[in-house]
Amino acid sequence: MEDKFALARKRLVMILALSIVVVPVIELALFFCVERPGGTTWSEYGYAKFAFPLILSVLMFITLIIVLSNPNIKGIVKNYCCMFAFIFMCAVLVTSHNEYPVLLTIFVIPVLFSVIFEDKSLCSVTHIVSQMGVLQMTVTSKLFAIKPQVHMSAQELASRLTKHVGESYRSSIEPETLLEWSENVRVNSLWLNILLAIALVAIARIFAYAMLLHLQQKDSMLQSHEKDNMALEKQLLRDQMTGLYNHTAFYEFLDRCVKMKGDAPLTLAVVDIDDFKKVNDTYGHDNGDEVILTLSNVLLSHCGSDNYVCRFGGEEFAVIFPNSREKDARKIMTGVLEEFREIRYDWHSGTISFSCGVFQCSPYRMNAEEFFQITDKLLYKAKQNGKNQICGGQ
Ligand code: GH3
Ligand code: MG
Ligand code: MG
Repeated sequence: MEDKFALARKRLVMILALSIVVVPVIELALFFCVERPGGTTWSEYGYAKFAFPLILSVLMFITLIIVLSNPNIKGIVKNYCCMFAFIFMCAVLVTSHNEYPVLLTIFVIPVLFSVIFEDKSLCSVTHIVSQMGVLQMTVTSKLFAIKPQVHMSAQELASRLTKHVGESYRSSIEPETLLEWSENVRVNSLWLNILLAIALVAIARIFAYAMLLHLQQKDSMLQSHEKDNMALEKQLLRDQMTGLYNHTAFYEFLDRCVKMKGDAPLTLAVVDIDDFKKVNDTYGHDNGDEVILTLSNVLLSHCGSDNYVCRFGGEEFAVIFPNSREKDARKIMTGVLEEFREIRYDWHSGTISFSCGVFQCSPYRMNAEEFFQITDKLLYKAKQNGKNQICGGQ
């Protein structure tokens, strides 16, 4: 079965590849263009925010490509791997920064992306893993990362405030108190932002879930429409009595086959039951119907699903062979004739046969009508020659 999410995975891999290139570029831009408190050096910054995340992301990317290119791994497993690669990418990005609060919200992205794979379980799993990521990063931030962000002494902070606010505050507030306040504000806003991140990831899940439900409803509506269409098509293109393709379908298929004919040989066989009027007149219409149904079954069993078996008239049949030479089609039709005339009916002591014309479409320009007329003439020839036979063009 074709994997319908292969293209979606390809796109996600491209987005991941783009992120792996863009994120380090942004990190470089931040280092060189934005003022860094405490005068972080390139050796500190380059390792923590550039080299470390880049190496991890590239390793993760290579692993993902190996998994995705393995034909033995199931499509659903590959979908899960894509989403975990995304969460991993988010985690790496967050880990490399001390500014957790805002960055934690990027865990929203994999949850929303889980919609692509139209899988409710994947949506739930991605949501849980993202929430765990948020909590894990919170713990990491508490353990390692909060303090080093402000490499500022109380005096440095005071001198900066002097620059922005003016001298007025100095008289009432000590620089140490100010630093303590700013730390408190940082920690409070950190918790607020973590709660916000958790809420946003949860909201993303609700959205993703709603989108999935919507997609599933649309899918089931499309499926029921498709079923209706197939039923309608069956009614329009199939003969009610035998289930074979009808008159309309026959001419349409023949026209299509002639127009689309490439190098493959195209052959047509036209069949007419011999002296059928007599069968009807002597044994009744119902027994005549039995003969028609019997021939339909024999035709179907010999001609297979690669060819179009049609009932285009009362006791007239046609088989389009879109990939057979006349010689091969003739052999098949001979088998049909041999089996059909061997069949015995309770109500009939003799044999019932058919006549058949077989012709391979010429490689020169010929339309469906001409193709049919030539084959029909060969059927007429078979009738003229005494019926119960097959007449070919070669
Ligand atoms: P020939 O060998 O020359 O073909 O002679 P024929 O008697 O078969 O002549 P023709 O093909 O003209 O006869 C077709 C007959 O098929 C006429 C019609 O009553 C009968 N017929 C058409 N459709 C049906 C059907 O659905 N059921 C039955 N039982 N008979 C049908
Ligand atoms: Mg006829
Ligand atoms: Mg006939």
